[in-house]
Amino acid sequence: MGRVIAVANQKGGVGKTTTAINLASSIAAAEVDTLLVDCDPQSNATSGLGLAKDPERISTYHLLMGEASASDAVQKTELEQLWIIPAHKNLLGANLELVDGARREFRLRDALAPLRERFKYIVLDCPPALDLLTLNALVASDSILIPMQAEYFALEGVSELLDTIERIRASLNPELTVEGVVLTMFDDRTNLAQQVTAELSRYFGDKLCATTIPRNVRLAEAPSHGKPALLYDVRSRGAESYIQLAKEIIGHSLPVEMPAREDAAEHPVEEKQVVNAPRWKRWIKERNKLTTINILDR
Ligand code: ATP
Ligand code: MG
Repeated sequence: MGRVIAVANQKGGVGKTTTAINLASSIAAAEVDTLLVDCDPQSNATSGLGLAKDPERISTYHLLMGEASASDAVQKTELEQLWIIPAHKNLLGANLELVDGARREFRLRDALAPLRERFKYIVLDCPPALDLLTLNALVASDSILIPMQAEYFALEGVSELLDTIERIRASLNPELTVEGVVLTMFDDRTNLAQQVTAELSRYFGDKLCATTIPRNVRLAEAPSHGKPALLYDVRSRGAESYIQLAKEIIGHSLPVEMPAREDAAEHPVEEKQVVNAPRWKRWIKERNKLTTINILDR
């Protein structure tokens, strides 16, 4: 059964789409079948993976309106094991058209259900609002990944987001957990970033991801070439940091096996032994040459 992760934060421009595209690509690069679902009428994840705008193409709108099945909406991408369900700005209409619809909060969950066997990870890119689209994404998900910038008002609005998560858990989706909070466009050289990180760490505890995403121009450039960062410049700090984030997140849900030793109680487990790990080594075609990324070495 695949894991569904919503990348959400109602604050605009915090790096949701950049995170959704590059996290999904990095998981796919570890030879894990991955689906990215664009749930935002801005359709930045769709164009960022090189799909042209096309109102006729089956998209998230048709899934929510019950006009098409998810398997009909799935499109290939340049990356072998990454697929996408695209969006179009017509998705804005779904927010209004669904208001009186039956099971209006469950439309995406119902639509994606048949794909959960086919994909190991399904990543949802949400719009910058706590609207019916984000609600559908959170009801369809096992967990939420919250990208955040380490700025002075970072925690502003977070309580509203956490309240929303609590309300969803209480009624529509009791299984929803917080996958993590990831700091984006991070510059650890500034005192402010360090102070804010310390505060976020007190607030979120171990939910704050160990991986931070640096501000990196390659991450900003890649979408205009219709590529995830690891196909645009696999050696950039941006691409590397998202590969590291993918490793951390896959690590959350891998079954772990404790070392089998009889005196285990006296010996704290130093390292979890990971079983069923995906094959991390992979050749990536970068222009005409082949590049290896070996995520385990990082
Ligand atoms: P929205 O709320 O509008 O959906 P978003 O939260 O999805 O925005 P992005 O679109 O991912 O945010 O990022 C906002 C802008 O910042 C984009 O121009 C993107 O290219 C840039 N950006 C995101 N992350 C980084 C980074 N780590 N380094 C440099 N630029 C970045
Ligand atoms: Mg976005």
